Amino acid sequence: MLPNNVKVGGVNYTVEEVPHLIADQELWGQILMRDAKIQIDSSLGVDRKRQTLIHELTHAIFLEAGYKDQDEDMINRVSIVLHQVLQDNPSLFHSAVHIAEKFTMKKLKKRERMKL
Ligand SMILES: [Zn+2]
Repeated sequence: MLPNNVKVGGVNYTVEEVPHLIADQELWGQILMRDAKIQIDSSLGVDRKRQTLIHELTHAIFLEAGYKDQDEDMINRVSIVLHQVLQDNPSLFHSAVHIAEKFTMKKLKKRERMKL
């Protein structure tokens, strides 16, 4: 299951699965930069969809970082490794979310105590 949107550089990119992208344009996915929209062919398998999403997001990351002329080969290589790092290290982000939640809970408890 892909997310419906992903924020890159403060821009909300919508993600949608569409049929016939491969059949019509021989593309697994594409990014519509101006519309901040990423389309992924719905017939792909789950892993291929994620890999393709990360590829298109790498285009978005480079664009938002100011790289308008992008080398497809470089985007491809970076995105393959980025996909692997994100996939194989879920604790990177899980622990960050966990710490943020703990911090919020502490604050809420303190607020509750102050009310009493
Ligand atoms: Zn590309």
